[in-house]
Amino acid sequence: MSIGILEKALISGLSGEGLGADDARTLASLPDEEIYSIIAVTEAVRRRHKGDEVNLCAIVNAKSGLCKEDCSFCSQSVEYSTGINEYAMRPPHEIVNAAKEAQTYGAREFSIVTSGTRIEKDRDVEALIDALSSMKNGVAMERCASLGILKRETLKRLKDAGLESFHHNLETGRSFFPNVCTTHAYDDDVEAVRAAKGLGFHVCSGGIFGLGEAWEDRIELASTLKELDVDSIPVNFLNPRPGTPLENAKNLTPIECLKVIALLRLMLPEKDIVVCGGRHVNLRDLQPLIFAAGANGMMVGNYLTTPGRDPKDDLQMLKDLGLKPKGL
Ligand code: SF4
Repeated sequence: MSIGILEKALISGLSGEGLGADDARTLASLPDEEIYSIIAVTEAVRRRHKGDEVNLCAIVNAKSGLCKEDCSFCSQSVEYSTGINEYAMRPPHEIVNAAKEAQTYGAREFSIVTSGTRIEKDRDVEALIDALSSMKNGVAMERCASLGILKRETLKRLKDAGLESFHHNLETGRSFFPNVCTTHAYDDDVEAVRAAKGLGFHVCSGGIFGLGEAWEDRIELASTLKELDVDSIPVNFLNPRPGTPLENAKNLTPIECLKVIALLRLMLPEKDIVVCGGRHVNLRDLQPLIFAAGANGMMVGNYLTTPGRDPKDDLQMLKDLGLKPKGL
């Protein structure tokens, strides 16, 4: 049975069509020891569509904590006592300096991330416009932002100021979402993605894995992302944060993480798949295998509220693998 599904995965992956939900279920049901056969397929599919280039992106947490939403994995929710550093919107020059620093360690895309359901204050929108305009003139990186569920008019203003990509995660599959967040509806997130697509942004939307979801939920998420035709899929693995409802959740195994990446590559063969938060905590010594599993990008530097590993180690890992950071 496994030979049949892997052949199908290879053919549909190389053609760009990708597996449908039924075949994805069969793939997900393969035992862990099949991972080496699976990544032989995903390596070929990734190379066909993405070559040997790896997209490196970095972020700045431009506004931290005090979020009214209750996402169970997130240390920035006002509902949980997590002891994180909370602050209002950082001034534009600090955002631009963070982008310049990220550029020194090879990041090609830079995302301004803010906590909260949306950006509500006009002075915060002005600060973002300022930061984007300065970046446009002085930093040669793709400008991305993750700012919650924005009004179309605000999105348009940011686009006019130089914003190129918009990030908004769906987090998980629709059916599992009520276990993750009760303060807004899944459709609000879907609409945010649609609005950004409608305005012509490069849209980055994915989720977080290891919340207690089943493979069926992961397949549901991948199917929705396929339907929405997102351009890039950030893949986060839960790093349980003290004080959140998921503080005692068990990490995924490194092989399960690789299977998640492989599933996404084989369902959405032509899209960018970018491994973000929780990478080194969950994958440990199997980190270099994320590319064979299908990823063609990774976040470098620090995450929102937790430190990442030294970017020099990530660049060395790419060099050792014979892969090239895109744009360098
Ligand atoms: S994930 Fe975003 S929306 Fe959810 S609690 Fe954290 S900052 Fe708020």
